[in-house]
Amino acid sequence: MSQIHGLAAHAAGAELLRFHYEPGELAPHEVEIAITHCGICHSDLHLIANDWGVSQYPFIPGHEVIGMVAALGADVKGFTLDQRVGLGWQSNSCGTCEWCIQGKENLCAQMEATCIHRHGGYAERVRANARFVVPIPEALESPSAAPLLCGGITVYSPLREHGVNPSSRVGVIGIGGLGHMAIQFAKAFGAEVTAFSTSPTKEKEAHALGAHHFVNMRETRALVGVAGQFDLILSTVNADQDWSIFLQALRPTGTLVFVGVMPNPVALGPVFPLISQQKSVAGSPIGSPARIREMLDVAARHGIKAQVEAFPMAKANEAIEKVKKNKVRYRAVLAN
Ligand code: NAP
Ligand code: ZN
Repeated sequence: MSQIHGLAAHAAGAELLRFHYEPGELAPHEVEIAITHCGICHSDLHLIANDWGVSQYPFIPGHEVIGMVAALGADVKGFTLDQRVGLGWQSNSCGTCEWCIQGKENLCAQMEATCIHRHGGYAERVRANARFVVPIPEALESPSAAPLLCGGITVYSPLREHGVNPSSRVGVIGIGGLGHMAIQFAKAFGAEVTAFSTSPTKEKEAHALGAHHFVNMRETRALVGVAGQFDLILSTVNADQDWSIFLQALRPTGTLVFVGVMPNPVALGPVFPLISQQKSVAGSPIGSPARIREMLDVAARHGIKAQVEAFPMAKANEAIEKVKKNKVRYRAVLAN
């Protein structure tokens, strides 16, 4: 197999530079994808900066991939060459533990991420275990579907797991890549949706995406004013907040779900409101391959897609700078 060319960070926080590597023989269970599009998830920025202490350099980021099947391992069934497929955060799992057997591969302790300790999707091609490669429904366009592969499933999965339905009142904190897709999915589930944002300029667009209400998070009075209103609040922000205010915003039995990764440990405030009103705090990691297929089908049938700003792959650094400044509306997508 020929070399794979991509863009790699060579040190923590460094600009991406052209880089290539030898992928070796394609394993029997693997699919190789010729990448057409790759979304820029904020997790890529965390990894470039080594925020989580797991990055190894040189490192090619990227885990919101859409492309065409370029090669199939000897044991792979169910895919054809040139078929349009997607790949998200997860590229492999053990396949034998209780979680893999239950179809919850995203909880497997041996899970392998597409761009941790291996090279990701800011490149020409990428490989993964065929179990984590999904067909893309025809109704979805590649640029606006790529961000569904990580950001989309990450917000869809907890809405589904926590039983959001037409009687639910859902809050979404942070209207970025994940948050703007969360509004659309929560609306499709029939919920009344409130967007919590630090960007007042996003109010009109949040309503257009399906939010019924908009709360400016910089106005403490507005935050305190929504006490006791939500069944589920989904936090997609990557910055520390006063979480006790969001716990107060929950109704009895409500749940605060974290998908965004903040720099510091979470402080929740006094425990009595949690006890007396039976509230919960939860986390949620991406979603299983089966859930990803379901989510893509829901997106196709309900017209849910990422609002994207497209950049040529060669302009990845420019796109990353814009994501860092919270200037992208709402997902940057690199195109080959
Ligand atoms: P993003 O596009 O940069 O959006 C994050 C949003 O958070 C921003 O648009 C902004 O929304 C808000 N925000 C930014 N700085 C803030 C601050 N200082 N205070 C309050 N709000 C702030 O990022 P993303 O791609 O959606 O990713 C968000 C987080 O999810 C990242 O930490 C990422 O690593 C994580 N993630 C987790 C999983 C998982 O499996 N759990 C999967 C994917 C990503 P407003 O302008 O509306 O305030
Ligand atoms: Zn991601």
